[in-house]
Amino acid sequence: MSDLEAQASMQSKIEKIRCDACPVMCFIAEGNGGACDRYANHGGRIVRLDPLTIFDRRVAAGDQIKPFLGADWDGGLGHGEDVFVTAIGAGTTYPDYKPAPFIVSRELDGDDFVTVVTEAIFSYCGVKVKIDTDRHLGHEGAIVRRDGEAVGLVITSEYGSQMLSLGGVDHLTGGSKAEGRVTCDTLMQLCNKQAVELTIDDGASLVVQAGKPPIVDDRVEERMRVGCGSATIGMFASQWLGLVDEVVVVDDHITGVVSEHQAGKVLDWPDTGIKILGRRSTPGRYFQVAQPGLGWGGTDIEDPLTILGPWNAKKGAKEGLRLLMVSTTGEQFAYFELDDDLVPQPKPLPDTLRPSVDLIAENCEPALCTVLFMGGAGGSLRSGATRNPVRLTRSVQQKNTSVTSGGVPAYVWPGGGITMMVNVLDLPDNAFGYVPTPAIVAPLEFTVRRSDYIALGGYEEEIRSIETAAREGSEYGADSVVIAPNDRTVLTGSGEAAD
Ligand code: SF4
Repeated sequence: MSDLEAQASMQSKIEKIRCDACPVMCFIAEGNGGACDRYANHGGRIVRLDPLTIFDRRVAAGDQIKPFLGADWDGGLGHGEDVFVTAIGAGTTYPDYKPAPFIVSRELDGDDFVTVVTEAIFSYCGVKVKIDTDRHLGHEGAIVRRDGEAVGLVITSEYGSQMLSLGGVDHLTGGSKAEGRVTCDTLMQLCNKQAVELTIDDGASLVVQAGKPPIVDDRVEERMRVGCGSATIGMFASQWLGLVDEVVVVDDHITGVVSEHQAGKVLDWPDTGIKILGRRSTPGRYFQVAQPGLGWGGTDIEDPLTILGPWNAKKGAKEGLRLLMVSTTGEQFAYFELDDDLVPQPKPLPDTLRPSVDLIAENCEPALCTVLFMGGAGGSLRSGATRNPVRLTRSVQQKNTSVTSGGVPAYVWPGGGITMMVNVLDLPDNAFGYVPTPAIVAPLEFTVRRSDYIALGGYEEEIRSIETAAREGSEYGADSVVIAPNDRTVLTGSGEAAD
């Protein structure tokens, strides 16, 4: 760099000020925001742009009050049981050995507690997405993409739901710059309850949004299946008895056949001579009747007869035999009667069978997407809570310290570290942010008895009352907002996080 360039660079740095809330260390000009849009230079001072969010049970849901700025607020905060300082808008300290922005004391049940409040930067984090649908979204292990970039993969499906694991340190840091940026955007938008379009290699395209029905290949999913095909037979066999001679519940995983199934046997259901083209598991339960897909029961079939072989007259097949075929959501159904060649011929669904099909549909729950944020809080950020980080980990593991995210109790995985999970729907909107390292910024609070906090090496001299903390703010400003907590928010902070 020439002298002139160095001088110009120095001049520009003098006019700008540096944000040190994350490793990016933005130089920010007066009136501008930093790269993450969370901090800005206001009047020559770096401030956090979102207000600190405080929960107060005395505030009616839907109302929010700006303390110290709002005329309606009396300036007082209630007892510890009523009030909780979340990390939303609290700001981050960097480097980590600086004490967390807010370390507040609270009295709960006559005991002194301390809550350590910080917006934590998670390089090791991701989301687990549960998508309630039978439809085949992609094979286990298939890559999930956003804008062509790999952001995660399809993982083991659960009962009635397909699962994705998105993000993680390898996608955030281990690929190209574009992959990291797109992964970070995807995680933040999903955590902030926004809709995200994804594609799965050799699979479906999706729109996923926490708390909303999934959209699979432009079609909104309405129903989560009542159960697998076998379970559906088990649930409804007695309702079909006498109304129809055979029922097949088509399912990609376990297709059920009532005449062979134990549920039918118990009811003395007569044999029908049916033949299912699939791998028989146990009586009346068949695997692999077709390929996975977007058709009947998560298979690729549109014509259910394709899963049937020839009917056997010696085992009960006869002209006029009545057959109901239905999917696990009741969305697809067809009724047939065997002709004199023992070939099923389609017929209108008899009125007597309609209620049973409707009952399957009625027993389906609405299909939704669920997004769980999962992150490792066991790293360097512990230094903002205590000078002896491993003691915090041990205290969490011993359930002496509760972990919340935006006031919501987090599930902490057993074993080493502080690996936590939280349902993003339980948090207030826009509780998550990012830094372009790239990493996700998530609210994090540790609550522990004051005596334990001091014993584990906490910053005793930084402890403030909630009122003082709310009035003074942090180095990044004193703007705060008071809102009603939601049902899942924990305001008592002792011991194991309540659920
Ligand atoms: S990215 Fe945000 S937190 Fe990081 S230095 Fe820039 S403004 Fe500050």
